[in-house]
Amino acid sequence: MPEITLFRLTSIMLKKFDYKIKYAVMSGFIFLSTYLVFRSDYPTPENHVNLCIFHYVTGYPCTACGTGRSLIYMKYGHFKEALLTNPIGYLVLAFAVLSLLWMGYDIIKKKETFFKALNFKMPTVLIVLIAVITIINWIWNIYKEL
Ligand SMILES: [Zn+2]
Repeated sequence: MPEITLFRLTSIMLKKFDYKIKYAVMSGFIFLSTYLVFRSDYPTPENHVNLCIFHYVTGYPCTACGTGRSLIYMKYGHFKEALLTNPIGYLVLAFAVLSLLWMGYDIIKKKETFFKALNFKMPTVLIVLIAVITIINWIWNIYKEL
């Protein structure tokens, strides 16, 4: 997922900083993203502009295309449309909520486990499984003409 990659990159960039600063930056990123999506003037799924560079260059959707629209559908309570537009929207939401809870738990317990958990060595089976699901979702996105 792009969010995990982003979090890992942030973790590397902020390596020498205290974990509380890393958590503040990541929480700020999550809250800012949420604020932008929930602003009343944010586009609806119908007038949403696709900002995907891959889609712009190739004319085809990438596997993550429609994630923003999925989140916007959820904002309006259209959970079925959200799932059908791109299930990654639910993964992003779950990841954001779990990240905030995990970082909050770490702050209360005064220990750093969140970023360490993100940097775990993935077993090959899991990498292959994620790759297969990503490709299937990508084919579905092309079929849906997102
Ligand atoms: Zn895309």
